[in-house]
Amino acid sequence: MGEEIKVTRSSLPAFDEYIQEIKSLWDSRWLTNSGEKHKALEVGLSDFLEVPYLALLTNGHLALEYAIEALSLKGEVITTPFTFVSTTNAIIRKGLTPVFGDINEHDYTLDADKIESLITEKTCAIIPVHVYGNPCDIEQIDQLAKRYGLHVIYDAAHAFGVTINDRSIAGYGDASMFSFHATKVFNTIEGGAVISNNEELIKKIDILKNFGMTGKESTEYAGGNAKMNEFQAAMGICNLRHINEHIEKRKAIVERYYEHLDNVSGIQLVAPKGHVKSNYAYFPVLFDGFRHNRDEIYEALEKEKIFSRKYFYPLTSRFTHVSDIRDINDTPVAAHVADCVLTLPLYHELSLDSVDRICRIIKGV
Ligand SMILES: *Cc1c(COP(=O)(O)O)cnc(C)c1O
Repeated sequence: MGEEIKVTRSSLPAFDEYIQEIKSLWDSRWLTNSGEKHKALEVGLSDFLEVPYLALLTNGHLALEYAIEALSLKGEVITTPFTFVSTTNAIIRKGLTPVFGDINEHDYTLDADKIESLITEKTCAIIPVHVYGNPCDIEQIDQLAKRYGLHVIYDAAHAFGVTINDRSIAGYGDASMFSFHATKVFNTIEGGAVISNNEELIKKIDILKNFGMTGKESTEYAGGNAKMNEFQAAMGICNLRHINEHIEKRKAIVERYYEHLDNVSGIQLVAPKGHVKSNYAYFPVLFDGFRHNRDEIYEALEKEKIFSRKYFYPLTSRFTHVSDIRDINDTPVAAHVADCVLTLPLYHELSLDSVDRICRIIKGV
């Protein structure tokens, strides 16, 4: 039997590189609250993501909650059930009602053609997800939002480094949320950011994430605590130095997967789009009419100590804490994709030999 392969493996800089980066913290004793590492990471990320304003937070989930809070959203939010449960929970935890739209069968993002029929007088916003890093239909969503006066927050947790027509994906909607969790393409151990072209919004989030304090003796909002600390920021500074190299390596791995699995009957892959530069964050495969179903492939790989993931199964609308809230719309495409999809191991250190082995097992079951 070959070596064990997990679905992902967190990126780390060389040990000494991180130690060098955090050394100065032993002199300054400034461990959190917008210190020098935090400031340097803000500059580095603004540059990399080509955005004017961003707020760094403890994690991506809180980044989404704080973005919702800062926009003072109330009522119904149109969103996708084909996502990590964080998206849906952020909506519910902020007192909003999720209204689930179906996804399209090409890239599994929210189907923009099906949004309009879900809009009611209670609708305040759309929260779509660039799932697997695949960009949503930004143009159509933007037009709808303008026509109906809705806010748009993109869950861009998977989309770090993705560009559309050479333009960063981070600059769309009222705001975008990124996750820098250990398992994401770029990590700060735990971490996240809200990005916006609206300077006031980012300022508000920076205040909200620090108890609402605007000075030593003044507060403006009932804020909470969601600050990124200096050790997280230092990890981000180090990982950002290597991000392009990591994405290049992921690209080679994904190309190898395509060589093996593209044009195999019963296996469906997301077709690359010419105007989109991918970050190769995930490799989702649909087993739809293949000799074996998704669960059988999952188990066959597991027997060989290869751990894929059923991302995203079940739909978030099927979790009991969600389905108890109200009647959930039918989302047949999302339900089908959730039943057929498997994300295969992918991280920048995965060897091409391992990809060959994984694909041999899938095709040979
Ligand atoms: C990872 C993730 C989140 C949450 O981010 P954290 O940094 O883990 O809190 C939210 N949405 C999606 C789609 C994610 O994959």
